[in-house]
Amino acid sequence: MSVVTDVLRQSVVVFSQNYLPMSRVNIKRAIVLLVTGKAQALDYSTGNGWLVRSPSTSIHVPEHIRLTFGNSERLWKVPPVNRREVLRRDAHSCQYCGSNRHLTLDRVIPRSKGGPHTWDNVVTACEGCNSRTGRSNSDRSWNASAN
Ligand SMILES: [Zn+2]
Repeated sequence: MSVVTDVLRQSVVVFSQNYLPMSRVNIKRAIVLLVTGKAQALDYSTGNGWLVRSPSTSIHVPEHIRLTFGNSERLWKVPPVNRREVLRRDAHSCQYCGSNRHLTLDRVIPRSKGGPHTWDNVVTACEGCNSRTGRSNSDRSWNASAN
């Protein structure tokens, strides 16, 4: 075991429950998996790994960890940006006014300005807010009338 100054940049190999190598994650991610019980050390016997210290505790992070649960799909795959997933993320409410009726997807940066169809740029908006955000930034009149 060694204490490495840039230990947080090291990566850990993740094995599936069936001991198949799946992926590499950085140490922070590995620590989260270990602390939350989603993974366990695979190589305590060899003594390899890193000792990561925080102000309150220290944790031994092995070079290999094994997931303790079977279905790991959700951990590694970012779901596609689609209506169902965005609505779920935003708890089925308009991110501008909180309404939960007539919901649509709105791009924070509009497509006309090059806004991508990504998780960062797509939010749930009701039809009313969506049509308002589609206006140019100079048209602020709806702010006054919205209250
Ligand atoms: Zn709204």
